[in-house]
Amino acid sequence: MSKKKPLSQGQRRRMRANQEKRLQRRADENQAPELQDSSLGPELLGTVISRFGQHADVETEAGELVRCNIRRNIQSLVTGDKVIARLALEQSSTIAGVIEAVHPRHSSLSRPDLYDGIKIIAANIDQILIVSSVVPSFTTQIIDRYLVAAEDTGISPVIILNKVDLITDEEAASIDAALARYQAIGYSVYRVSSKTGEGVEQIQGLLNDKVSVFVGQSGVGKSSLINALMPDAELIIGDVSENSGLGQHTTTTAKLLHFPSGGDLIDSPGVREFALWHLPAERVGWCFVEFRDYLGTCKFRDCKHKTDPGCAITQAFNAGEISEDRYNNYHRIIDSLDEQRHARHFRSEDD
Ligand code: GDP
Ligand code: ZN
Repeated sequence: MSKKKPLSQGQRRRMRANQEKRLQRRADENQAPELQDSSLGPELLGTVISRFGQHADVETEAGELVRCNIRRNIQSLVTGDKVIARLALEQSSTIAGVIEAVHPRHSSLSRPDLYDGIKIIAANIDQILIVSSVVPSFTTQIIDRYLVAAEDTGISPVIILNKVDLITDEEAASIDAALARYQAIGYSVYRVSSKTGEGVEQIQGLLNDKVSVFVGQSGVGKSSLINALMPDAELIIGDVSENSGLGQHTTTTAKLLHFPSGGDLIDSPGVREFALWHLPAERVGWCFVEFRDYLGTCKFRDCKHKTDPGCAITQAFNAGEISEDRYNNYHRIIDSLDEQRHARHFRSEDD
């Protein structure tokens, strides 16, 4: 048994607030005096390419990259945000402008945060490319977990099967069948090999005019694929911390990059780690897109969609309208979330 009492939510929040105040004070001391209104040009529209503490790199509509201060009243600013910025009329320091306001986001990606509950890591993403692979093994369980996480954000997911050069004759039929099931419920599926280049052109077409993120388990080939699409991506992402000279937090900051063939990528280790953390069971059901028509029509309000009498989902499954694989994966996800919840529960009683 630990002697220390666990911190309450409130205590954690206060600790965090104090920390932030201290960081803010330090940033203020180091900062050049605020740019005065009279020394700033007209308002411009820009996109946040990356953020470092109290600064952000903004790309203006004219394609110019400028390092900006962030007005104090701006609560949240992340890579991908559309902002209104004003540039300094005279360039006196590395800071070339000020971010005055942030446009509302049409989407965002977040991850759980120890202090705040959730932390937003990137904004205005149009599609989530879920990368899966045939090696080490092809599994729909993982794909479904990513699909649920993506559906929850409201950002359209696309399924990419990488390493098709390694598919064996024995596996081919079952993989084809699984991918066909995803297409049948409305998902786009792409088959590629970042090694041979097969299918890479189709992915380029998919990226055009959109902001994309690549997610998926480690080892499926995300870096290889991104490199095939943007040969110097690793280099640019690796550069983030070295170039900024603006202190810590830089290595994990998400960065927006342009694909040479069109379209944008937002990438960082944090973005790639996007996953299903926690959702209430009802929400998981809604995130199985082909369940939606049946939800709310089960006999019992708190139906678990398993052995409960009068379950519309189970009836649809028995009628062949919901695939066995998806039905089973739904239950696996619910069970795993339950386990997580119990684990947390025990921990907090224990301490
Ligand atoms: P990440 O962890 O998702 O970024 O995966 P990586 O891009 O690091 O790739 C993991 C391993 O798979 C590396 O050894 C790659 O060379 C290999 N790999 C990636 N794409 C392919 C592919 O299309 N075919 C084959 N045969 N190997 C690949
Ligand atoms: Zn039900």
